[in-house]
Amino acid sequence: MRKDVNVYLFDPTRKYFHIVIELENVPGALRSVLEVMHGLQLNILGSFSSVDSSAMLGVWSGFVEDSTHTAPDLKRKLSASAFVHDAMVVESSKGFLVDGVHFPLAFNTGTRAVMMGARPLANMLGTVNEQYGSGGNVILYEEGRSYGEDTGSDYLVKLGGDFIVSNMAEVLKLYQALGWFRVAKVKFDAETGTLLLHAEENFECSGVDSRVPHSHFVRGHLEGMVTTWLGRPMEAKETLCLAKGDKHCEFLITPRAP
Ligand SMILES: [Zn+2]
Repeated sequence: MRKDVNVYLFDPTRKYFHIVIELENVPGALRSVLEVMHGLQLNILGSFSSVDSSAMLGVWSGFVEDSTHTAPDLKRKLSASAFVHDAMVVESSKGFLVDGVHFPLAFNTGTRAVMMGARPLANMLGTVNEQYGSGGNVILYEEGRSYGEDTGSDYLVKLGGDFIVSNMAEVLKLYQALGWFRVAKVKFDAETGTLLLHAEENFECSGVDSRVPHSHFVRGHLEGMVTTWLGRPMEAKETLCLAKGDKHCEFLITPRAP
């Protein structure tokens, strides 16, 4: 199932609102707010909610469509709920609504994030490959590896090495959670430190036509990540590739020869 993030809406014939509600983090609070919205017959087009457990507050944020209310109206009616601390309502301008409220973006772990379109990002990486050939591929691989080491260290602190090693297949789904590729198959042998991974719809290789394996950035990232997790130098090879016409990209990550 796809995960949508509200960025903007545009239809000059419609009226949209961005509703952001800060509410108490107690059972029933969100239900109460949704009931108010149901009573107002708002058409919810996309939303997210998050919780700051230290402050005992939650946030519900959504894009809605409605042609009968004004922003002050909605704010007043939503604020009437005993669970609501604060409500912000922003109306679209000539059918254009953009999320100008939330910044920065963050993963639910608190780490700041930036979003980019998968296609332009893949094209950007592909340009390095086209312009500089094998030298460009080395740059992409090194960039990926550096990023992988950085991310890998972060996960190592948060999850612990023992947990990662004994739950490798589950932990690798982090790539899927971030939209890089779908994790289809993982075979990890903790004894030999060998990892085989099937990556479906790898963003780096989707829509690309190549005679040779095309994933250098993601391959480097996997290598950096697994090297950090296992605490020994690893080498990642792309043994099957979507860009070559294979069903998916396959990565084989093995201990680097001394
Ligand atoms: Zn590939």
